[in-house]
Amino acid sequence: MKISSIRMMRLRGPREHGVGGEDEPKISKIIVRIDADNGQFGLGECDDFMGIRRGIEYLHAYFEGRDVFAVNAIVSEMLYGTAAPHAATSRFGEMTPGMNAVPFCSPTATPWGTPIWAVSGVEIALCDLIGKTLGTPAYNLLGGRFRDQVKVYLDRSTPADVTNLDAWEEMAESSCAEGFSQLKFDIDFMAPDANTDVWNRSLTLTQINRIVERLTVVRETAGPDFELCADCHMQYNVPDAIRLAQALEPLNLLWLEDPTPIVNPDSCAEVRAGSPIPICIGEMLCLEQARQFIDHQACDIIHPDVMFCGGMHELQKIAQYAEVHHRAAAFHGNGGALATIAAANVGATCRSFLGVEYHFIETPWIGQYVRRDVPLFRDGHIPLSDAPGLGVELDLDVCRAHLAPGEALFE
Ligand SMILES: [Mg+2]
Repeated sequence: MKISSIRMMRLRGPREHGVGGEDEPKISKIIVRIDADNGQFGLGECDDFMGIRRGIEYLHAYFEGRDVFAVNAIVSEMLYGTAAPHAATSRFGEMTPGMNAVPFCSPTATPWGTPIWAVSGVEIALCDLIGKTLGTPAYNLLGGRFRDQVKVYLDRSTPADVTNLDAWEEMAESSCAEGFSQLKFDIDFMAPDANTDVWNRSLTLTQINRIVERLTVVRETAGPDFELCADCHMQYNVPDAIRLAQALEPLNLLWLEDPTPIVNPDSCAEVRAGSPIPICIGEMLCLEQARQFIDHQACDIIHPDVMFCGGMHELQKIAQYAEVHHRAAAFHGNGGALATIAAANVGATCRSFLGVEYHFIETPWIGQYVRRDVPLFRDGHIPLSDAPGLGVELDLDVCRAHLAPGEALFE
């Protein structure tokens, strides 16, 4: 069973309540479709980051004709290449005008960034395709499920007016009313009104006080049993991240996320040593990078993303590496419905698993461009489907209504 084509389709539409409550008018997602020579096809999702479309074009040119079931080999060859004399299936030279095959390493000579973002969406589509072909849900390709639903937690960004404490209360109330039991907020957007220096990795006492004041409203509204998290977006220095964590201690957060810049486990370990709140990191990391943070005792919870770590199998490997170090995994999620369902399929197979993030509760179309036989969310969880693969099909009406200019709808 061979890959006959790898195609993509960009969807673009409104994003209500963008990060920080800003009026971000648009957000886009790339849907990947892999067709096989048996007539089946699978669907995946990528974020619309710089270079990803070029990465998918590379994957099509390089892996067309490859065995559909060779998921690990395809991901590994995309990230690391092979040693000379290379695999018999490796490509050499110019594949399409201006696109050269690089069999001895990734097309950018790095196993992260564009290559891993692009291959993540392709890997998700391969898992969907293989599951459909075998007639079994994707989670069964990964060892089977521990649970029949996985928790979902919401990233609610912030109210449009961060100074309006009533708006913080309303945000917490609406999340509870919709059945969710965990919320995350972005520290850097919680008190931008108190920030006087956008270049500085310091947090002023005024910023910290406003953040504590606003998150206290959420805690008091949602109650003591509601889980709360705070994301530092990799922005701060070590002492101020510790100072922030200590100020937030009375709010009993589940985690403080990415306190310091992304690729330094030593700094993160320093924060963890001084933080009364568990530290969660990993949303942009591949397996080897996540390993460094776990080995450096720089995190309590690992937080990889199915769209950024290499896809469903790599996501499971990261969670399993954390598990044998007696750390839990939560899955970062910047995806729409398709990537979120893919992550949920993996989460069901990981023993020490906390939940999958969802960013777009205020942006309905992102959760509606695929349909399945069970709802996307039920009582704060993502129920798993028994349908083959990811158990989804595109809602062509939603896709057509949000097709980006110049894009063609998958027929
Ligand atoms: Mg984050």
